[in-house]
Amino acid sequence: MAIATTNPTTGLTEQTFEEHDAAQVEKGLAEAQSAFETLRVTSYAQRAAWMRASADLLEADVDAAARMLTVEMGKPIAQSVAEVLKCVKNMRFYAEHAEGFLADEPLDDPSSVNASKAWARYEPLGVVLAVMPWNYPLWQVIRFAAPALMAGNTGVLKHASNVPQAALLLDTLFERGGFPVGSFRTLLIGSRAVAAVLEDRRVKAVTLTGSEPAGRSVAATAGAHIKKAVLELGGSDPFIVMPSADLEAAATMAVKARVANNGQSCIAAKRFIAHTDIYDEFAALFAAKMNALVVGDPLDPTTEVGPVATSSGRDELAELVDDAVARGAQVLAGGSAPAGPGYFYTPTLLAGLTDDMRIVMEEAFGPVASLYRVADREEALAIANQTTFGLSSAVWTNDAAEEDWFIRNIDAGAVFINGMTISYPELPFGGIKDSGYGRELAAAGIREFCNLKTVWKG
Ligand code: NAP
Repeated sequence: MAIATTNPTTGLTEQTFEEHDAAQVEKGLAEAQSAFETLRVTSYAQRAAWMRASADLLEADVDAAARMLTVEMGKPIAQSVAEVLKCVKNMRFYAEHAEGFLADEPLDDPSSVNASKAWARYEPLGVVLAVMPWNYPLWQVIRFAAPALMAGNTGVLKHASNVPQAALLLDTLFERGGFPVGSFRTLLIGSRAVAAVLEDRRVKAVTLTGSEPAGRSVAATAGAHIKKAVLELGGSDPFIVMPSADLEAAATMAVKARVANNGQSCIAAKRFIAHTDIYDEFAALFAAKMNALVVGDPLDPTTEVGPVATSSGRDELAELVDDAVARGAQVLAGGSAPAGPGYFYTPTLLAGLTDDMRIVMEEAFGPVASLYRVADREEALAIANQTTFGLSSAVWTNDAAEEDWFIRNIDAGAVFINGMTISYPELPFGGIKDSGYGRELAAAGIREFCNLKTVWKG
């Protein structure tokens, strides 16, 4: 895949970039290793000062950075601004909390291990490779980079080939904030060049956010070389609506959860499961709100849904819908791509789904929702847990016992009650099953790429 900015709103390629050759990759790795030798012995206070300065620079650049995101991958401009500011918040969060999250953990009773003192200490691992997707071009990277650098690690980034300008912004951001040269390096390489970088002895671990096939491939290389890996892969999150829910609020949130980021979020609700007692009312509200969405130029601040990021992504989405319709699905909203330039797809709501349809098991990465009717909570749970994914989930209910039952039984990395899944710096984030393993954000995220060193003193 060429490394290029192709504007999904117009379909025009605006800028292409040369892939880094072997010498440039070697330079990036050498700089990252050299920066690690400095960063690992730098105080938390110094790292925090650099991180805050980097956050200030990004915040000052918010309008240009947001516009760049919208041009590269089609996100509505208000959402691009929100993404940049969320990165700033995460950088400040780890600047403030890293030292506390990684403080020594003394054993209360060292005599139980025949010691005068015993404790566990978090130490950085070294250079960590980040393989990242295009859907949140800054946020996906910053949620790894901020904790990694605050822990004393350094990073090398292989970003998705369609967001090179975001990748290059990140290449300089931390250095401009004061971090040692090479603390964070972008390598402009294709996916075929990833294995050799991961195999390099200087690279100690890898984090990948992306699709399941990419995750399997990178995890296999990491496994062969016994390197730590964190995988944040796809999802097909359920959104369950039970009779006690506030239906108007649930329908409004259902639409937002499905079409945010033009429907291209791993944690977007993709399968909507409504109890039969409220199904008809919920379906009517949901369809009306999907039909009312403003689709158009994502640089226009009134636009709610922009294009799918790539032409192949739009084609794959259309194939999933066409397959379902050919097998008998009902179209309650949308159902096709509009004529004209760009990679647009009309917000779509499908119902009457059966297990022979691909969309039942596969991730729909665009503004397409699937709606299911269920007789009771057991059937809702069976559908929620039906896919091979297990990233997040949402349950709408005002029945405390029902809420507790779903929290206990849903197979997912998170459950959001009467809301939609959102990532926060303060909350751990990650999945189970084919959605991956390991956690980002909060204390768990910064500890993933640390050596938890046990110290025993006689
Ligand atoms: P993708 O095709 O897997 O690409 C993600 C990254 O992996 C890109 O940098 C890509 O490089 C690289 N890559 C692809 N195949 C690879 C391979 N065999 N070896 C090494 N690197 C490889 O995913 P995408 O289509 O860009 O992103 C959408 C997917 O990401 C969806 O499934 C979504 O759910 C998931 N996602 C998950 C999370 C989460 O936190 N769980 C968050 C966001 C997105 P190229 O661009 O050069 O191919």
